[in-house]
This record gives sequence, C-alpha cells and structure tokens, in this order.
Amino acid sequence: MRIDEKVALDAFRPDEEPHIKLDQARCRACASRVCVRSCPANLYAPIEGSEEMKVECSGCLECGTCLTVCPHGAVDWSHPRGGCGVRYRCG
Ligand code: SF4
Repeated sequence: MRIDEKVALDAFRPDEEPHIKLDQARCRACASRVCVRSCPANLYAPIEGSEEMKVECSGCLECGTCLTVCPHGAVDWSHPRGGCGVRYRCG
C-alpha cells in the first residue's frame, strides 16, 4: 500500500483553533520553501499573488516535520487540543 493510500484511511477531527501558526514575515524572507516539499500530507502552499505561505491544519498528521525543517523558525507548532487532530487507522 502506498503512503498516500494509507493517509487516505486516517480520520481527522479539526480543531477550531489552528495548531500551526506561521510567522509570515519569516516566510516572506524564505527562498527554499522546504515545507512544501517536506510535508508528507502536502499541506503547505504559497498564497497566490503573495510571498506568504498557507498551511491546511485540518489534514495534519502531527509528524512535526515542518517544525523541524523550517530554516527560519517560522513555524509555531503545538498538538491540536484534546479530542482533535488525526486518528490513525493504518499504522
Ligand atoms: Fe505536514 Fe507533518 Fe507539519 Fe502536519 S506536522 S503540517 S503533516 S509536516
């Protein structure tokens, strides 16, 4: 089974409060956009017509990769509040 097929089996309960916040001033200064290539759920994307970034928190796998790889410390990351977030179904 491919990774994207496994991810499609997971269940998500979105938190009303985003558990990932981006420092857009730092995102604007970043040329690498390593978050886009690193997120296994493909949740990061540039905001069209802007140098800022967006992240779709509701599909987050809570792996912490984006927090680790961001070279500018632009990612403020915490776990979703209790009862919210990902529920793994296939490992
Ligand atoms: Fe993507 Fe993992 Fe960051 Fe969630 S924690 S946004 S899945 S890299």
